Amino acid sequence: MAVPQNKISKSRRNNRRSHHALSGANPNECDNCGELKRPHHVCPSCGHYAEREVVAMVDEIELDDDAA
Ligand SMILES: [Zn+2]
Repeated sequence: MAVPQNKISKSRRNNRRSHHALSGANPNECDNCGELKRPHHVCPSCGHYAEREVVAMVDEIELDDDAA
């Protein structure tokens, strides 16, 4: 099994990990409803993309009592 020849110092290890942070999402406003949505994705609240409806939204989902 390959074994590291030299110990990686805390400084070198932490320097390597300085690039590992995740950047936050960059949401923008839906042109139709104004909700925040992911860029280049269908709006989850109104189903619009590029100012037209591409996903029909249901106002309320009815569940049977015994279905849940
Ligand atoms: Zn929308």
